[in-house]
Amino acid sequence: MTARSFPADLFAGRRFWVVGLGKNGLPAARALTAMGALVAVWDDNANARAAADLPLRDPTEPGFPFDALILSPGIPHRLPTAHPAAESARLAGAPILCDVELLFQAVRLAGSRARFVGITGTNGKSTTTALLAHILAGAGIPAVAGANLGPAALSLPLLPDNGVYVLEMSSYMLERLATVRFDAAVMLNLSNDHIDRHGDMAGYAMAKRSIFDRQEPGDLAVVGIDDEGARAMAAWLDTRPASVTRVSGLEAAPFPPGLALPGSHNMQNANAAIAMARFLGVPDTAIAQGLNTYPGLPHRQQRIVAVDGITFVNDSKATNADATERALVCYDRIVWIAGGMAKEGGIEPLAACFPRIARAFLIGRDAPILAATLHAHGVAFQSVDTLEAAVPAAFAAAKADRAPVVLLSPACASWDQFTGYDQRGDRFAELARGLA
Ligand code: ADP
Repeated sequence: MTARSFPADLFAGRRFWVVGLGKNGLPAARALTAMGALVAVWDDNANARAAADLPLRDPTEPGFPFDALILSPGIPHRLPTAHPAAESARLAGAPILCDVELLFQAVRLAGSRARFVGITGTNGKSTTTALLAHILAGAGIPAVAGANLGPAALSLPLLPDNGVYVLEMSSYMLERLATVRFDAAVMLNLSNDHIDRHGDMAGYAMAKRSIFDRQEPGDLAVVGIDDEGARAMAAWLDTRPASVTRVSGLEAAPFPPGLALPGSHNMQNANAAIAMARFLGVPDTAIAQGLNTYPGLPHRQQRIVAVDGITFVNDSKATNADATERALVCYDRIVWIAGGMAKEGGIEPLAACFPRIARAFLIGRDAPILAATLHAHGVAFQSVDTLEAAVPAAFAAAKADRAPVVLLSPACASWDQFTGYDQRGDRFAELARGLA
């Protein structure tokens, strides 16, 4: 690929304050510095501050004047409580941006007309992002995938005019854009998530909808129609300038997706990726090939190992009931491992899937909440606290109850016991392989 790095004087004279030195913030601070900007940083964690080795600006003290605050997506600027850095940006009249905004500005400033694709939705973002990038790469188009999925936006290279940035956009990032215009944008689906940050479902939907802001005639807006929130957005999009393509998981894709894309939810992802690939000029033969050869992503219904005829499936990425439902419906008889930090509504929305569950093993902080629901519905379960206890117990139960699948699909966040869903999934895979 003919990717280049950004010119060293691109942001000369611009002043950025980068707050939150995690997986987005640190690459942002380094990249902006490398592009000639004046950068000061902050993180509430002293170790992160020390490791960054960049000039510091403390939110509680006036100091380094800045033109924009680059605030990590995980740090609130409004709800539940605004970080002091967001307050000082407001006082200074400086915009609060995310790294994707700066990537877009850098690409345009550097004179590249590379196209931008934005992908959002409550579930399916990463899969659709990786799938589209895979199709584009197979078709010989210089494409990179990143943003929420990683790598961070500002560690992506400068692409030429025929390049495509395929960016997974969280609702948190979408609230922090100013000039980004996506040539093609997709909003897959909307279900209850992240209400603490957006106030209510309407606020969350507004953040998601902003992926279509600044689109013009000739741009493409792809929207799901399998839930009420998405359908409302589709109706709104009809009043906007971009061409609208509606996608459903209930409609078979024109090209059959391969093994790494099971279930109707993946039909929705495939249909969205196909619509965007066509818009970007990929011939149908290359699209069909890409769908068939897509390797899948770790932690999303990932088949880890089969031991004594029992398949262990790692779906650690399913951190809400909606995502877990997509996995449960793929199998008739399952031993299910779930739990962690429950989302609002818990696992009650999964009741229709409960007959598929031979036995459940509950882990983590909110096991009692999940247990109450399972008990009320007469599902056999045990609370075992840890994955270390759950995996061997689930294996034994699968053999005894003749269930061919042990599925980790927690329907809960992982932060009570793990550094993230990826660490939880890796540990599950390790324990499952250990049984072989
Ligand atoms: P995201 O990046 O939005 O979290 P992923 O592609 O990583 O989405 O998938 C996360 C989980 O959501 C998967 O485990 C899968 O079961 C479920 N999922 C994937 N695509 C969809 C979809 N289109 N609709 C509903 N659920 C989905």
